[in-house]
Amino acid sequence: MINAKKILVLAPHTDDGELGCGGTIVKLLEQGAEVYYAAFSMCTRSLPAHLDPRTLEHEVKAATAVLGIAKENLHLFDYDVRYFPSVRQNILEDLVKLNKTIKPDLVLLPNTDDVHQDHQTISAEGIRAFKHVNVMGYELPWNNLKFTSNAHIRLEEKHIIRKAEALAEYKSQAHRNYMNEPFVRGWAQMRGTQAGATFAEAFEVIHILA
Ligand SMILES: [Zn+2]
Repeated sequence: MINAKKILVLAPHTDDGELGCGGTIVKLLEQGAEVYYAAFSMCTRSLPAHLDPRTLEHEVKAATAVLGIAKENLHLFDYDVRYFPSVRQNILEDLVKLNKTIKPDLVLLPNTDDVHQDHQTISAEGIRAFKHVNVMGYELPWNNLKFTSNAHIRLEEKHIIRKAEALAEYKSQAHRNYMNEPFVRGWAQMRGTQAGATFAEAFEVIHILA
């Protein structure tokens, strides 16, 4: 799976992709893969009133650039945060278009046990739109009561450092207890221990085609 050449990361909200698989993105780019990133909400409704409504748009551009994703590979949509289930057909149509234009050979999306309604929508519609593509689900522990970690991507310290640097671009989200380097490092160490490596990110295998 790590031999994939064209990877599409689906992030319900800006920052979900960096959190769930930022280290893996850096490793894949290093191996010469092309990485595309689609985010489906700029969360303008959940930002404090004193912030520019485009704050998260600026931050996702900066964070994905730190990971090394080309700016032309960034696809931004602006669905209302928390209301994805009510527009799931529109989202599915956007995903079908992304499949046609990008033709990825691996899609990374929220895992099937994520409890957030927007994440569930991207996970379910993503699996539907990319039925004939390899699909793996990334982990967001604060949204998972359970998680099937049956795949691990082994990482090096430099990948985790870059992931933390990308997350540091989300200054509007810095107050969240998972948005800091010690947490990101400890999480990757825990998954690394399971994977026989120093660091790793865990995934749920959803569909593998060989
Ligand atoms: Zn999210």
